[in-house]
Amino acid sequence: MRCPICDDFERALEDRTSEYRKACSNTVYCRISSRFVAYRNVEMERARSELEMHRSVCASAVTEDHGRTALSSI
Ligand SMILES: [Zn+2]
Repeated sequence: MRCPICDDFERALEDRTSEYRKACSNTVYCRISSRFVAYRNVEMERARSELEMHRSVCASAVTEDHGRTALSSI
C-alpha cells in the first residue's frame, strides 16, 4: 500500500530537482545569480531530507525496505 505522505514528499522532491536542474542549465542564472542556483540546491536538499526523515518513521516505507535490509545484512 502506498503512503500518500511519501507520495507528496516524493513529488515535492521531483519538483525541486527539476527546478534545480532548470536553474543549472540556464547559463544566465548561473552567471549572474549563483545565489539563486544555490537556493534551488538548498530547497532540493531540504525536500530530500524531509522525505528521508518521513521514511524513517513511515510504516509503509519500513515494510518496503524490510526485504532489502534483510538481504544486505547477509
Ligand atoms: Zn510515508
